[in-house]
Amino acid sequence: MAISTPAQKPLGAASSTRSTRGGSGGGPAVAVTDVRLPRAPPVPWVDVSAARVVAVAPASPAARAGLVPGDEILAVNGEVPRDVIAYQLAADEAELELHVNRGGLELRVSVEKSPGEPLGAELHAAVFDAVRTCDNHCEFCFIYQLPAGLRRSLYTKDDDYRLSFLYGNFTTLTRFTEADLERVVTERLSPLHVSIHATDPGVRAELLRNRRGATSLRWLRALLDHGIEVHGQVVVCPGLNDAEVLEDTFAGVLDEYPELASVCVVPLGVSRFNREQRMRPHTPAEAAAVVATVEDWQEVFLDVLGRRMVFAADEYYLLSGTPFPPAEAYEGFPMHEDGVGMARAFELEFTGRAGRVTATRPGFFSWVDGAPASGYRASRLEGGQATPVVLRTGRTAPVGILTGAYGARVLEPLLDELGRRDVRLVTVPNRFFGGNIAVAGLLVGADLSVALEREPEGHRYLLPDVCLSGGRFLDGTTPADLPRPVEVVATDGFALRAALKR
Ligand code: SF4
Repeated sequence: MAISTPAQKPLGAASSTRSTRGGSGGGPAVAVTDVRLPRAPPVPWVDVSAARVVAVAPASPAARAGLVPGDEILAVNGEVPRDVIAYQLAADEAELELHVNRGGLELRVSVEKSPGEPLGAELHAAVFDAVRTCDNHCEFCFIYQLPAGLRRSLYTKDDDYRLSFLYGNFTTLTRFTEADLERVVTERLSPLHVSIHATDPGVRAELLRNRRGATSLRWLRALLDHGIEVHGQVVVCPGLNDAEVLEDTFAGVLDEYPELASVCVVPLGVSRFNREQRMRPHTPAEAAAVVATVEDWQEVFLDVLGRRMVFAADEYYLLSGTPFPPAEAYEGFPMHEDGVGMARAFELEFTGRAGRVTATRPGFFSWVDGAPASGYRASRLEGGQATPVVLRTGRTAPVGILTGAYGARVLEPLLDELGRRDVRLVTVPNRFFGGNIAVAGLLVGADLSVALEREPEGHRYLLPDVCLSGGRFLDGTTPADLPRPVEVVATDGFALRAALKR
């Protein structure tokens, strides 16, 4: 590979070569050469911001090529990437020529690597030509229920099919276009995740508070017609789209969209910042009714399609006190990331009855924190291994497992079975969001600090990684800001079990 810095030296001056052949990298040998070449050809103008490198994986092709944090990748093999999908497709090639802006200097960087080998550059964002924001105004939108003063990016109401593909975000398709369909189909951007909420056009438009909500599911039909795998979601607002409306939605799914891979049914989250009068948490009886409706319709789908199709979120079982379904009823846990079957999967992992970690654990709002070097939708902790962030305590110290109210109810019976008197739960109430927010993924540093202040020093404290995104809690603090040292543990049963053995 070669890095040329034409703006620094006149043509004809001496060149030098620093060989890194046989260095720490595992890929093809590279030689870094400073040579005078004509200025890198101009990159065709496109209205995109450049992909900025925020980290370089050690010994990766990017590291061997000399890329450093702060470099802006303007083009890959002459193409200006609009998003990390295009970037990664281009960067999969074995031979790359990168146009790089380094502090105002335009560089041309050539890289040789194995085809498909990740370049190893972590980028500042997943989308470089601006996230497509939604034109809906859902009463149940959690963005409207965030407190003021958080990172600006957290307030982005995204409705972008690319983030649906990359991170499993749900899109309502109200801003989807013919060109988007063409790209999805051509590049096989599958699976996608679509917010359904109701199949009745009038109800859906009312829920989204957007008249386009009445018609945008035509794109869902088109995606399914082209063989794109799609997972659906129904956020249930009590009194609005539960009961008969939910029944009607399931009938609509069976009638119009039977190719859907799965549909998760999740309860409305209501924080203390909610200002919408009609939004309220489910009562336990309403939660039980949703579970019953879902399970009735699972039988119908089984009869007609041979699979259950619709699944209720774990929160419904916890809220209604209904026992979780057996593992096989989750049919491979297709919507684990959306809180469906997490409890059952965790149990299988913790008790050693699962062969591997069930799914990736993206964490809330993970998409706002850039694109990982190892590829989007990658597990943040490979192999489910615990990553000690701060560990100054003795290994024989008693252990406190930090979790939210729902997590505690899942873990309690598992720890009882374990019979370890030195292991206890530290249940952290979510005062930051308040309302009915009780999942571990929305725990913030401020609440964890209050809980840890009351706990003894010198103990080990285990923290599920699902409440971190880019190493930070949603309130912007980090584990290092907590009053006790904590160990960040991947949010799966294997990792917790392994952490408890240490
Ligand atoms: S579509 Fe999503 S982001 Fe947009 S208003 Fe509705 S809930 Fe919020």
